[in-house]
Amino acid sequence: MKAEHYVGGVFRSDGPAFPLVAPVDGTELGAVPEATREVVDDAVAAARTALKGPWGATGAEERAAALRRVADGIQARFEEFVDAEVADTGRPRAFAETVDVPRAVGNFRAYADLLYGRPERAYTTRVPGWSSGTGEALNYTVRRPLGVVAVVSPWNLPLLLSTWKIAPALACGNTVVAKPSEETPSTATLLARVIDDAGLPGGVFNLVHGHGPGAAGEFLTGHPGVDAIAFTGESATGAAIMRNAADHVTPVSFELGGKNPALVFADADLDAAVDGTVRSSFTHSGQICLCTERVYVERPVFEEFVARLGERARALDGYGPMISAGHRDKVLSYFRLAREEGATVVAGGGAPRFGDARDGGFHVEPTVLTGLPESARAVREEIFGPVCHVAPFDTEDEALALANDSPYGLAAAVWTRDLSRAHRVAPRVETGIVWVNCWNLRDLRTPFGGVKASGIGREGGEYSLDFFSEPVNVCVQI
Ligand code: NAD
Repeated sequence: MKAEHYVGGVFRSDGPAFPLVAPVDGTELGAVPEATREVVDDAVAAARTALKGPWGATGAEERAAALRRVADGIQARFEEFVDAEVADTGRPRAFAETVDVPRAVGNFRAYADLLYGRPERAYTTRVPGWSSGTGEALNYTVRRPLGVVAVVSPWNLPLLLSTWKIAPALACGNTVVAKPSEETPSTATLLARVIDDAGLPGGVFNLVHGHGPGAAGEFLTGHPGVDAIAFTGESATGAAIMRNAADHVTPVSFELGGKNPALVFADADLDAAVDGTVRSSFTHSGQICLCTERVYVERPVFEEFVARLGERARALDGYGPMISAGHRDKVLSYFRLAREEGATVVAGGGAPRFGDARDGGFHVEPTVLTGLPESARAVREEIFGPVCHVAPFDTEDEALALANDSPYGLAAAVWTRDLSRAHRVAPRVETGIVWVNCWNLRDLRTPFGGVKASGIGREGGEYSLDFFSEPVNVCVQI
């Protein structure tokens, strides 16, 4: 898949090229064009022009139909999307087939459906004067698009996360300039092909490739022509984007990093809790923002839980690599740091040797740690790899205090068979999402996002439609 920019309905590859490396074996997959400031300027200008053109006047019905054509287009090229996502990320094929590509289709369908199902959320009141002497007035609220939306996305779920923002942004009548991660440009390019084939007017969706700091990402998010920024990535990057966007007071929706806790109570179904934690810590080699890196287990079942989790981690195979050599080195450096900080390594703790081409890739072992103090950097900082630290607790209050003692607040899992406890504990966990006896069970209509350093705002269903449109109140004196 040749990565190309898509600007004003035209594919182009100008700008210096950088290599795209396969994480599974370290081979070079191709070259990616790095968008210069001029390419970004052109994309923002094209998006502005398209906003003023026919797209700006489309009704919800036409936009819903356009989103459905895009969904159908992705479905029609399903295998190509799977191939591209697998090549860029090295993830197991089954993951791309069951998660990435179906969710991208689902993202476009869900927002098309929402446009239909949505009673226009117009707040209308006709009231006698609010204060005496003002007479009667009719207030109604209309929603209009934000304008040109910048979508900046990470490498861990490239297609899923970018379409999670692109679909609702388009549903609300905005135009979009997307910048995918420099590590994973291919499915975004395919998406541009699909959108082009679906007949969306040129400039409605634009795509620029390139790096973040001092490059395309920074040019785009600091651009005076951008009306809103929807970003998913690291918290530190979010902070940099906010500083960059501050001069133009550009609104942001941020999905950022996490250091997600799981609380396992002694009354939990232990089989389900172990299974769930294997999934929540090791799915996609821990490279999902929702993955669990801190597990707190009530003392009576602590030893058994650790033994069973360690056994399962050692038995895992067929897991994918880290996205890059740099990220592999970062994760391994946390394994070393954890040992220096006093960790017991229950499982993993290094890089596997396969004796085949994969040894050129960027793999690390699924790793289970115990014995660290809560102040350890390996317990406090997001590692974003297949690793969790397991620690015991004695009381519900202690479990909550441990879970909440984090600068992050994205997602948590609570494992218990006690219904009252579940409802008592879940709302007290300081995260935006709490799963009880499950993990990553998603309903696209529910609010998704984090608190503290894990984000600003919520996406999903109506929450996305609210962010990607602006309420305007009209007050008519009667
Ligand atoms: P990253 O922050 O390094 O990069 C994300 C995107 O931002 C990339 O497209 C990158 O090029 C761009 N970027 C980097 N610096 C920039 C700058 N100064 N200005 C503008 N753009 C810039 O994140 P990553 O390594 O690609 O992804 C992993 C991170 O994403 C983890 O922290 C993970 O927790 C987080 N994440 C969060 C969610 C969520 O929903 N909360 C989902 C997935 C990933």
